[in-house]
Amino acid sequence: MSNAPDSDVLIVGGGLSGLPLALACAQGGLSVTVIDALDPATVTDAAFDGRVSAIALASCRMLDSLGVTAHLEGQMQPINDIMVSDGRVREGASPLFLHFDHKEIGAEPLGNLIENRHVRIAMQKAVEAEPLIRLIAPRFVKHVEYGARVTATLDNGEEVTARLCFAADGRNSPTREAAGIRTVGWDYGQTGIVCTVEHELPHEGVAQEYFLPGGPFAILPMVGNRSSLVWTEKTADAKAILALGDEAFADEMRARFGDYLGACAPTGPRWSYPLTLQLARDYVRPRLALIGDAAHGIHPIAGQGLNLGLRDVAAAAEVVVDAARLGLDIGALDVLERYQRWRRFDNVALSLLMDGLNRLFSNDIGPVRLARDLGLGIVQQIGPARRFFMRHAGGVVGDLPRLLKDETV
Ligand SMILES: Cc1cc2nc3c(=O)[nH]c(=O)nc-3n(C[C@H](O)[C@H](O)[C@H](O)COP(=O)(O)OP(=O)(O)OC[C@H]3O[C@@H](n4cnc5c(N)ncnc54)[C@H](O)[C@@H]3O)c2cc1C
Repeated sequence: MSNAPDSDVLIVGGGLSGLPLALACAQGGLSVTVIDALDPATVTDAAFDGRVSAIALASCRMLDSLGVTAHLEGQMQPINDIMVSDGRVREGASPLFLHFDHKEIGAEPLGNLIENRHVRIAMQKAVEAEPLIRLIAPRFVKHVEYGARVTATLDNGEEVTARLCFAADGRNSPTREAAGIRTVGWDYGQTGIVCTVEHELPHEGVAQEYFLPGGPFAILPMVGNRSSLVWTEKTADAKAILALGDEAFADEMRARFGDYLGACAPTGPRWSYPLTLQLARDYVRPRLALIGDAAHGIHPIAGQGLNLGLRDVAAAAEVVVDAARLGLDIGALDVLERYQRWRRFDNVALSLLMDGLNRLFSNDIGPVRLARDLGLGIVQQIGPARRFFMRHAGGVVGDLPRLLKDETV
């Protein structure tokens, strides 16, 4: 009987981080087993996740290289411009604003907005077409044992072995907890309400980040005359808003949305997400590495959570594929520490920046309001500063892994 493990890599969690990681590892010649607790049909159902993700330019390049965007035809809404402004409910925006226009840094858009449901469907199709990946779902990983290899025990008693385990099992990562990796973080006392709005006029690919005292109100253009809202409120207010009848909910929505896109109305279900910050102290242990929200759950204020996860994917895949090419043990701690060094600082820095922005803007204190409005107005006047922020939003700066540079792993 062969003593080889079932696959090179085991990924616990086949969500928006786990599936691209499987594709990236397989592109590098590694065999992969992905286990997810949920049925693939459930997670792509229209009722499961109403969110739309802002996927930065560099992340889109990676999804291209992994064969995901080939399944997204007609589902990607380019982000041409981003408008940032401050305001109050029913009073409209401050005259000082910040306008990011993609044409200032090149012909390509700043990224694309794609419904999570369609991203999941496209990732699943790309995974199905990859012979090196085995997806086991719905199955729950109950226990993982680390030694000369990794052995995962599933809820039906089946055992799966591998050289390395990636935990891509989300914010509450049971795999991280069981490995004794601690987290730091806090609750924002805010909830993100998500819904789709239909409007009369075209949005022209302009995303709006409108800062209101309860929290940011993001209007994200979708394909067609539709936009997705990420409407942040203090949790008690969010509960009250979510409990409103359809007409009263639409009135509250319009009081913030305004009429710049003509007549508008919410459509379809409402979703809500409690907002917290959660950062893992360590990303690696022998034969274990954390990826995506398992490593860092952040505030969605600038739509960066998944983008950070996709950067983790690109870096982790490159590190383990390079190690395998050199004949090294891909689960060895010194190999995995290269991934940790590459990603941890970037993730912590961006998470704290998002935290700071949320604190700066989610209040109605007069002098703070004046200072932040002036700040927006000043950055608007300085071309190099605007371009700096746009390049960062597009994810095209820093020490980028190959997959984020339009190359293969
Ligand atoms: C309101 C809101 C808006 C957002 N907007 C954006 C945006 O515009 N752009 C952006 O970049 N990011 C955005 N984000 C962040 C983004 O949605 C997350 O970062 C991303 O979904 C995390 O993906 P993940 O795969 O790491 O974790 P998850 O999506 O949590 O997936 C974890 C998976 O692990 C599985 N699992 C868990 N435990 C087990 C187990 N024991 N065994 C097997 N499987 C298991 C689960 O079933 C699940 O499928 C937003 C977040 C919120 C809340």
